[in-house]
Amino acid sequence: METDYLIVGAGAAGLAFADTLVDETDAAITLVDRRTEVGGHWQDAYPFVRLHLSSALYGVNSTPLGDDQRQTSGRNAGFYEQATGAEVCAYFDRVLHERLEASGRVTFLGGHDHLGEDGAGAQAVRDLATDRVIHIQPRRRVVDARYLEASVPATHRPSFTVAGDVRCVPVNDLPRCVDDHDHVTILGGGKTSFDACLWLLDHGVEPDDIRWVRPREMWLTDRAGMQPLDDVGTLMDGLSRETEACAELDRPVDILERLEELGRFLRIDETRLPTRWVGTMVSRPEVDSLRTITDVVRLGHIASIEADLLSLTDGEVPSRRGSLYVDCSAAGLNQNPPRPVFTGDRITIQNVRHNSPSFNAALIAWVEARREEHDKNRLTAPNRYVSDADDAIGVHCRSWMTEATWRQDRELSTWIDASRLNLTHGLRDHLAEPVARAGTQRYLETVGAAVARHQDAVHALFG
Ligand SMILES: Cc1cc2nc3c(=O)[nH]c(=O)nc-3n(C[C@H](O)[C@H](O)[C@H](O)COP(=O)(O)OP(=O)(O)OC[C@H]3O[C@@H](n4cnc5c(N)ncnc54)[C@H](O)[C@@H]3O)c2cc1C
Repeated sequence: METDYLIVGAGAAGLAFADTLVDETDAAITLVDRRTEVGGHWQDAYPFVRLHLSSALYGVNSTPLGDDQRQTSGRNAGFYEQATGAEVCAYFDRVLHERLEASGRVTFLGGHDHLGEDGAGAQAVRDLATDRVIHIQPRRRVVDARYLEASVPATHRPSFTVAGDVRCVPVNDLPRCVDDHDHVTILGGGKTSFDACLWLLDHGVEPDDIRWVRPREMWLTDRAGMQPLDDVGTLMDGLSRETEACAELDRPVDILERLEELGRFLRIDETRLPTRWVGTMVSRPEVDSLRTITDVVRLGHIASIEADLLSLTDGEVPSRRGSLYVDCSAAGLNQNPPRPVFTGDRITIQNVRHNSPSFNAALIAWVEARREEHDKNRLTAPNRYVSDADDAIGVHCRSWMTEATWRQDRELSTWIDASRLNLTHGLRDHLAEPVARAGTQRYLETVGAAVARHQDAVHALFG
């Protein structure tokens, strides 16, 4: 079998890449995925998961996700809609059939495992239903859209042991199991654990009946400052506060505290200094609810669970017999080290602008289609997901340096401005608003100084 591009992984990254390639080239594309359906980790998501960013900024470039409506009730009332996991899956399914396959140039091989190069210059792919191996010859590139594959509770292997008389379930099973228990212990301190705690509170579980094993405190981004579309001016203002703080301050902790004072960042426990920052987004009402859970265990990562004892990396605590343990400890975002995006006949889709996975995949496809070989890596310097407060500044500066190269490329800038996946999409239409104008000006005035001040942080992370 021959194709122009063989894309391995049909999650958000593979689909966003294919979608832009369909627009920008006449190439034939084959997408393969072990899963039988497209959408990647969303296929295994827990039932109450939602996007934490607005739907307006997620998915593939050609096709809006949702209707850009504001939420009218709940803890995110007033904010732009955030699709549920089921809505994301339905959206990607529609994109596959009505957009990609309808182009006549895209073939999806679901339930197929990519095995690698077959020794004869082709790529070997195994049909998991029949075990038959197909050999695919990509005329142009192999696209690795699984390098940042997400780790989710349903599919990860917990790193702790559980005694036989203890019930510990992945968060996916929480709704099914919760009624059998009068106490719940949430394991993990990331976004999934927030969702699990909020779900419990919404379903009438008293805060005192919840214990939360939270290894590290996190800096959280206030969702109010990351609203797109009509609120893009405020969003730009917030981004410019980040460049301004980095231009004026050295230590990450000082930068983060400044941004907290400005209302951009939050923490659940204001008496403790967070060390973790992965870009998790929350609303203030969500944080208020999470603060009602006061039985928080902070003794590092869980090592073992017995009926009467919890052992953690930094100590032990008695545990409540009969508690339902809910595993929210999957890593989520993938911290594979950055590597060049374009190498020979391979493209490895990665972060370029931090924490913008859909945008990055679409941008890399645009660069592949529109730019000369020697320019491609310059425009797509690989970045990482932010993982803690210390590396956050280096990651942000790396994005800002790359954005500066984009601004020198008029055609690329025009594409970025028009992309629905771009965080500041539509900003030009709002520049008459004082907050948008001031934010843009502040960003442009401070970003160079921010990058210059933190060159060491960039070098420490990226060499
Ligand atoms: C709970 C959760 C919520 C999130 N919310 C947001 C959000 O609101 N906004 C945002 O921008 N980002 C969000 N993210 C970040 C998320 O990582 C991206 O949105 C994106 O879905 C990741 O897509 P991916 O294609 O890189 O990885 P995946 O979705 O993991 O897809 C990789 C695919 O590769 C396939 N694969 C792997 N190896 C092989 C092989 N050898 N052969 C064939 N197939 C293979 C896998 O089966 C999988 O389907 C969230 C992440 C999580 C976990």
